[in-house]
Amino acid sequence: MSAEIMRALQPDQQRLLQAINDLANIVEPDTPGWTRRFPSGAYLRGREWLRTRMQNAGLSTRIDAAGNLLAERAGSADLPPILIGSHTDTVLGGGRYDGILGVLGAIEVAQCLDEAGVTLRHPLIVADFLAEEANDYGISCVGSRALAGNFKPEWLDRTLNGLTLADAIRAVGGTPEALGTPLASKGAVAACLELHIEQGPVLDQRGKLLAAVNGIVGIQRGTLVLQGQPDHAGTTPMELRRDALATAAVIISTLEALCRDEPQAVGTVGRLEVSPNQSNVIPGTVTLTAEIRSLDAEILEHTWQALWEAATAAAQQRGVALELLALTSTPPALAERWLVDLVHQVCRRLDDGAIVLPSGAGHDSSQLAQLAPTAMIFVPSIGGRSHCPEEATTPEHLVLGVAALAHAVVAVDQALDAEGHGQ
Ligand SMILES: [Zn+2]
Repeated sequence: MSAEIMRALQPDQQRLLQAINDLANIVEPDTPGWTRRFPSGAYLRGREWLRTRMQNAGLSTRIDAAGNLLAERAGSADLPPILIGSHTDTVLGGGRYDGILGVLGAIEVAQCLDEAGVTLRHPLIVADFLAEEANDYGISCVGSRALAGNFKPEWLDRTLNGLTLADAIRAVGGTPEALGTPLASKGAVAACLELHIEQGPVLDQRGKLLAAVNGIVGIQRGTLVLQGQPDHAGTTPMELRRDALATAAVIISTLEALCRDEPQAVGTVGRLEVSPNQSNVIPGTVTLTAEIRSLDAEILEHTWQALWEAATAAAQQRGVALELLALTSTPPALAERWLVDLVHQVCRRLDDGAIVLPSGAGHDSSQLAQLAPTAMIFVPSIGGRSHCPEEATTPEHLVLGVAALAHAVVAVDQALDAEGHGQ
């Protein structure tokens, strides 16, 4: 990229902050924070506002079968598009930046490319992917899943307050009948880039401003049921007890120890149900949900295996029955090496200290990675806070992230050859 283009590519801070502020004003009434969940009225109104914002930026908009809102800027060659974007739905009591920065920042990129007089070879598509956050239909990344072909048509019948998921997708302008097959095939998209707030403390604590994301962690999550025996807490000698909670305690501390010893994994027991949950009764039944996350599929597998072996031993020792009720596993999504290197280089031009980080949270990018080379850029989250009203990033860092995305788009446009391979 020439130094001249780099200098000319300047996002407009005032315009970006104004857009973030305007969208933050469109929220569900009587909910905490900035709440705009799919498929609420606020989400639909936010979509309408966004579509106008895209059109005012000179982009031509359409809504695909999955309800993704797509806005296109033409390229000079007959090539598949580079896709940039994220999501505008939030969690209950969410913040103003999660996903939103990635969409509004992408529109800002299209505008500052125009203003810098940059013509890309590839068309550029700015996307607002439908319903990224886990919603009350029990599905996350609805729009990006459908693009990548990971959407199951039977989900369309799931109902919330009398509204099926099919109805909800239709209400945003989608065509649910068409969701049985992938909306895009491999090769139909040249590359994907997503700008996002980190949602964790690493950049903020290390005083770094940008990160190139080398992948999104896989998750192994299981619900374990421990069945012991509820007896009198005063009359039952220790050696005759079948204490389900004492067994759970071993499992929880084993998980913590395993993941402290393995720097590439994190593990959590975030949910525990104790029955009968009485101060003078030995706990008879415990249900707990344990999860492990890692960017390395092998580490994920063997750490889970080690946890399961320890759980089995602890349960046997106490005469407690152990059952694995449900297991979900999402494999890690790794970004292609050349793309991570390229995005990291771009980030380092704007912040010498820019680092490479994995994402511990799920994103639309984990779906998109199945379609095309995909990478993310993170900006700091103050105090690592996210999914709460306190979620914040300084205006300077928001704009820096958008500048990094703009530079990355230009660099990727130049680096891709006709077969869609990085150089
Ligand atoms: Zn997000």
